[in-house]
Amino acid sequence: MKKVLKCGTLFTAVDEKVQKDVAVVVEDNKIVKVAPVAEVDTKDAEVVDLSDKFVMPGLIDGHMHIGMNGSPTMDAVYRELDTYVSLKAVNYAKADLLAGFTTVRCEGDVGFVDISVRQAIEEGLYIGPRMQCSGLPVAATGGHGDHHFKPGITGNYFGTICHTLDEVREATRFTFKYGADQVKLMATGGVMSDADEPGAADMTYDEMRVACEIAQMHGKTSSAHAHGAAGIKNAIRAGITSIEHGMLMDDECIDMMVEHGTYLVPTIIAAYRIVERGVAGGIPADNVRKAELCLKNHYDNLKKCVKKGVKIAFGTDTGTPYSPHGEQKFEFILMEEAGIPAAQILQSATIVCAEMMKRDKTVGSIEEGKFADIVAFDANPMEVGMKAMLDCTFVMKDGVVYKG
Ligand SMILES: [Zn+2]
Repeated sequence: MKKVLKCGTLFTAVDEKVQKDVAVVVEDNKIVKVAPVAEVDTKDAEVVDLSDKFVMPGLIDGHMHIGMNGSPTMDAVYRELDTYVSLKAVNYAKADLLAGFTTVRCEGDVGFVDISVRQAIEEGLYIGPRMQCSGLPVAATGGHGDHHFKPGITGNYFGTICHTLDEVREATRFTFKYGADQVKLMATGGVMSDADEPGAADMTYDEMRVACEIAQMHGKTSSAHAHGAAGIKNAIRAGITSIEHGMLMDDECIDMMVEHGTYLVPTIIAAYRIVERGVAGGIPADNVRKAELCLKNHYDNLKKCVKKGVKIAFGTDTGTPYSPHGEQKFEFILMEEAGIPAAQILQSATIVCAEMMKRDKTVGSIEEGKFADIVAFDANPMEVGMKAMLDCTFVMKDGVVYKG
């Protein structure tokens, strides 16, 4: 069935331009034509009138966790069976889709929950975004991802804990074997993990290099949870695709990201919500302390990253405390506060994320031949600011209208 979307204002994300009165023609699940309304034949087509809306490509959240939904502590993750987490996670996927996120990148979950949810969506059992999954992250003993504190237990949960280069190779192959699209590495300590410090490097350059090598052999991408400058530099030199958070970077990190073409996924909202809700919100004091430390210099560093031309990809760390699925749009406001220009923010949440995920041939912009993933808002964020992004009123994924 042919659909013609009459778009009053259109941002294709191919460039920074906004176009007026453009029609997007969709056949089955693909965009087949983008042309002025006057030039498009609507005979035998279903017309979708978006003439009073701001239309853009489906949003992409480049960093989220499908198995978590904003609880103040990590307790639920460690007490619930993976099967139960999966049952809840399909609802989170639906919330993301209806908020306008037609593609997401999962940055690690327990028990391959992300892979299961991805399969259920692809098979049409549930509705949700297209998903790029990490499966089980790869981590170091005592680092971010190593969450149990009984010395007699040698297993692990949120990630595969490795001690040697061969174990890193094996863990990377293991997550790919069970369906991961990329490998997630825990380069430094984190905020919501106990007994580590975000500024301290955990995985070594050599450990990350062998993981990146395996990923490259499989034609896959990689990402590094990294706050401290030393860990960020190790990851960049190892050939990582993206730095996640990067909240304690220094100027040399910025230069290296530019030089190596490494993406930065700032996830401002993750630290922001933890600081905002704090101990009063039931978040453990040590986690709040670490979030405050991380957030302190983040805005200044982001301004430098924009100035120097670092590729910034939109990501939210949704699932972390007080960041439930479907509510991650607030990151748009925080990016605006960080001084990132409007068009660049919109591209970061579309084409830049798609490029980072190596999916830009199929998603990330409104162009002929790409999947019909299209969303709309009542106001133009280029005119009224990013508050327009808080309420997505039309969602089409794969040519199917889910909202509006
Ligand atoms: Zn995360």
